[in-house]
Amino acid sequence: PYTGPSSAEILKKRKEYLSPSLFHFYNNPLNLVDGKMQYLYDENGRRYLDSFGGIATVCCGHCQPDVVEAIVNQTKRLQHSTVLYLNNAIADFAEALASKMPGDLKVVYFTNSGTEANELALMIARLYSGCHDIISLRNGYHGNAAGTMGATAQSNYKFNVVQTGVHHALNPDQYRGVFGSDGVKYAKDVQDIIDYGTSGHVGGFIAEAIQGVGGIMELAPGYLPAVYDSIRKAGGLCIADEVQSGFARTGSHFWGFEAHGVVPDIVTMAKGIGNGIPIGAVVTTPEVAKVLTYRNYLNTFGGNPVCSAGGLAVLRVIEKEKLQQNAFVVGSYLKERLTALKEKHEIIGDVRGRGLMLGVELVTDRQLKTPAKAEILHIMDQMRELGVLIGKGGFYGNVFRVTPPLCFTKEDADFLVDVMDYTMSKM
Ligand code: PMP
Repeated sequence: PYTGPSSAEILKKRKEYLSPSLFHFYNNPLNLVDGKMQYLYDENGRRYLDSFGGIATVCCGHCQPDVVEAIVNQTKRLQHSTVLYLNNAIADFAEALASKMPGDLKVVYFTNSGTEANELALMIARLYSGCHDIISLRNGYHGNAAGTMGATAQSNYKFNVVQTGVHHALNPDQYRGVFGSDGVKYAKDVQDIIDYGTSGHVGGFIAEAIQGVGGIMELAPGYLPAVYDSIRKAGGLCIADEVQSGFARTGSHFWGFEAHGVVPDIVTMAKGIGNGIPIGAVVTTPEVAKVLTYRNYLNTFGGNPVCSAGGLAVLRVIEKEKLQQNAFVVGSYLKERLTALKEKHEIIGDVRGRGLMLGVELVTDRQLKTPAKAEILHIMDQMRELGVLIGKGGFYGNVFRVTPPLCFTKEDADFLVDVMDYTMSKM
């Protein structure tokens, strides 16, 4: 049993000693003390079904035994910085990761987070192209450091930093966007930015295949192939941010971009790569990687032995437990059930996503698509009371994000939908 401080005591310390900008879910915040696969436990031992997976971070399940064992064993043996000596853990993991990539994408740089991975990717694109202009998407999220905050395009996550070198293109938003699901029409905006907003040359383009923080918005079909074409003709590199959509989450494919029929020049990843431990990566081609050979590029803890051992175990568990297939089967079933729920509850404006990366957008008026901001908070609180944790996001904060550990079962999906249905019926 848990013998640590109470929720009230933790909250008090958090308010006094941690960032005042930290926010928490739920009116009465939840103190989580244990995790086991798709379940989380509070200080009273109460179990919750985790359908958010720590922001799509936990792919194999909380404290998945093989992953824990790999981390513990490596910790007991050796943990240090990777840069100056040889160690098998980082080399083995890089090789395994490269084997999951298409085309010539096989050179891996390890980082400690998604932000770091995207910062590095942007720098590589700029060095390679000799051009500073980057194009990203409105509603995208790429990180919280200087460059990535520039690429991020949601005011909620942007401070008053000087916005340089990044143009934000029209979002190929299939629910609210002016061109509906016609990806090629949205892609014209990127060509327009190149033609009217730059010298005609660009450094690169960065996008998530399914926007996570932005409310599980899958880019309209046809968008990425057309944009990649424009970017490459303008001398830029195409970066796929797979921080949330990677590692089998979308079910149909291992990487989110694969569903769009494109092969990026650079792929960035984090979150799921380590099942909860801090690690990120940038993967690119040997040709592109040459641009980083003229100086030393150093990252003290990127790909350290413990995180690398954990990452390798994650890849093995995804394979052994057939988690991609499970994400596809359970995700398709869950999406069907959520779509059926839309027939019953007016408040559900849209159900979308792929595999175990699903979104449910709540609106108070289906015609006007008025964001149901207060209602979603109420439903979320009530669902927690009934034992289900769910995520929330989108520019207006009115989209449920369902990104559970990939070991989620059909029974879990039923429980989630039944709890949502019951809560909405009681409103
Ligand atoms: N890219 C995407 C798509 C993300 O969702 C996030 C985190 N929400 C990041 C990058 C940044 O990752 P981190 O928080 O690990 O820096």
